[in-house]
Amino acid sequence: MTRPPPTAALAGFVSCGTCGLLCRPAEAGKPGECPRCGEPLAFRLPESIERTWAYVVAAAVCYLPANLLPVMTTTTIKATTESTILSGVIHFYTTGSWFLALIVLVASVIIPLGKLGALAYLLVTVMRRSTGRPLERARLFRMLKAIGRWSMLDVFVVMFVVALVRFEPFMSVVPGPGVPFFAAVVILTILAADAFDPRLIWDPAGKTGGTGG
Ligand SMILES: [Zn+2]
Repeated sequence: MTRPPPTAALAGFVSCGTCGLLCRPAEAGKPGECPRCGEPLAFRLPESIERTWAYVVAAAVCYLPANLLPVMTTTTIKATTESTILSGVIHFYTTGSWFLALIVLVASVIIPLGKLGALAYLLVTVMRRSTGRPLERARLFRMLKAIGRWSMLDVFVVMFVVALVRFEPFMSVVPGPGVPFFAAVVILTILAADAFDPRLIWDPAGKTGGTGG
């Protein structure tokens, strides 16, 4: 294995989280402030692992009610039906709208679960100080951040379905209690990705060839 280049922290530098300037810390253990933009400097985001875990666990807790509680209540002259995400997927599939079924399944069930799994994987490998595949893990993290921007797709899908059904006569559709839990999952996973410090991925890798510290 080729030796990875040392991290800035190992070389005694600290990078500014806002403008990216590589700074010399004011004194040992006290990074001080960025001379260019004034942002308080930190070698690593404070309590990054603990805060990311808290968001991941909170999102995982909200994931269950988001999928088990109804996301919409449809009322016709004959009956009132409550649908969950999965019953919606099954409904779309059995009525021939398999493409819509696929979009809802991927956006609302698979992507949030994948994001939580990927964040947990990154956290566990960082906590174990794993040196394996740092480049792949860094790429995985960038992908998570990129997907985060499109996460509101979940909510758009629900709104889109609600809007579609509203065109039918003698029918009322209201969003169900699952919707706020869905929004919570989306927001909490974005916060989790923001709380995670990707520089932690490189710390153990740098130490195998460095002097530590
Ligand atoms: Zn700065």
